[in-house]
Amino acid sequence: MFLAIGVGRICFLQNNARWLDEGGIAPHNQRMTEIFTGSFTQQEPIPEAGIDAAMAVLRHGRLHRYNTSPDEVSETALLEQEFAAMVGAKYCLSVASGGYAMATALRALGVGTGDSVLSNAFTLAPVPGAIAAVGAKPVFVGVTESLTIDLDDLEAKLDQARVLLLSHMRGHICDMDRLMEMCNAAGVKVVEDCAHTMGAAWNGVPSGRSGAVGCYSCQTYKHVNSGEGGFLVTDDADVAARAIMLSGSYMLFERHLAAPDVSAFADIKYETPNISGRMDNLRAAILRPQLAHLDVQCQRWNDRYCVLEDGVRDTAGLKVVERPEQEKIVGSSFQFLLLDWHADAIRDVVARCGARGVELKWFGAPEPVAFTSRYDSWRYADPQPMPVSDRILHGIVDIRVPLTFSLEDCAMIARIIRAEVSTVYQAQA
Ligand SMILES: *Cc1c(COP(=O)(O)O)cnc(C)c1O
Repeated sequence: MFLAIGVGRICFLQNNARWLDEGGIAPHNQRMTEIFTGSFTQQEPIPEAGIDAAMAVLRHGRLHRYNTSPDEVSETALLEQEFAAMVGAKYCLSVASGGYAMATALRALGVGTGDSVLSNAFTLAPVPGAIAAVGAKPVFVGVTESLTIDLDDLEAKLDQARVLLLSHMRGHICDMDRLMEMCNAAGVKVVEDCAHTMGAAWNGVPSGRSGAVGCYSCQTYKHVNSGEGGFLVTDDADVAARAIMLSGSYMLFERHLAAPDVSAFADIKYETPNISGRMDNLRAAILRPQLAHLDVQCQRWNDRYCVLEDGVRDTAGLKVVERPEQEKIVGSSFQFLLLDWHADAIRDVVARCGARGVELKWFGAPEPVAFTSRYDSWRYADPQPMPVSDRILHGIVDIRVPLTFSLEDCAMIARIIRAEVSTVYQAQA
């Protein structure tokens, strides 16, 4: 193989890059093979303001959200107030994870044992997992070439459940106007999984604010990073009160700043079990400065996304996922389609890019690898075959775009993808 890393001579070092001398007789500039050396899993450090705030919490030791000194407002309560204001929600609850937020939203809406919940065939394992956590069963809805939920398939299945757990998987937002119209007409409540759309919007409405409840994740690979964590937002006082009780507020809900009036808890406090999953003050302290800069970060993700998209556009055999005008994106990951390619050829592209340091994730692999599992991997949910979606899932190739990548890094990644896809495509022809 032409990529004996460690044997080749490193000619040139730039940001996250090196060049490998392939030898041979080609002119100098064509003998060099670009190798990307950045890490697809390395996020930026926590901002200094977050580190300082975390140190203050560690020094006073009151990490539990309800452990406050007289007149003290906890970091957690402040975080909730700030997040609610950011997305324009009446109520916000911060919790231990995005998965916990979704399960709590479902419970607060009354979903329980034996119920069916509609959800995406193309999503991540915590989404069907949240449905299973409440004893319910996912009914999977297909995916389109836009990588969004298939609204025709959804329409056909709306009579099978009272709730849709809608995943804006990889940041792709479907036509929310049509979706909400359909769900409202059918009396189906919508819970939005915004793990990949914090900061995004559809038609000016922040992601998570069209449905009854919006759920977000603050896990390291999402748009804000507290290691683990999540949010749930809603305008429904009843749902908010139930969620707060579920998360384990004991009878301390009055210490929240983004909660409904105490009257909303009158009966709910007796009716709702405690299923602990609170956020703590240490994580909240880390998150608050990150939320304050989310807009800037989103723009930086989008700058990188644009470079990647421009760089691979018009590569023969490769389909770029076009983003609708109504969608305000956060390009924290990038997908393209190798539609109707033979599995071996896609594997070849993944291997060749991998050898040059570009880690592609393929959602079509028959066995789930890392986070690329899909509906037919979740056998506990007894999934039915979905051939139309299978064709699309087979072609989805994905990369993460951490903000530690420079724009030049992204341009290089795009060049490598373009070159390797072209080589394999031409060999197939
Ligand atoms: C990360 C993620 C979640 C929630 O994840 P947690 O790890 O539980 O915070 C939900 N949905 C999708 C699509 C995700 O990627």
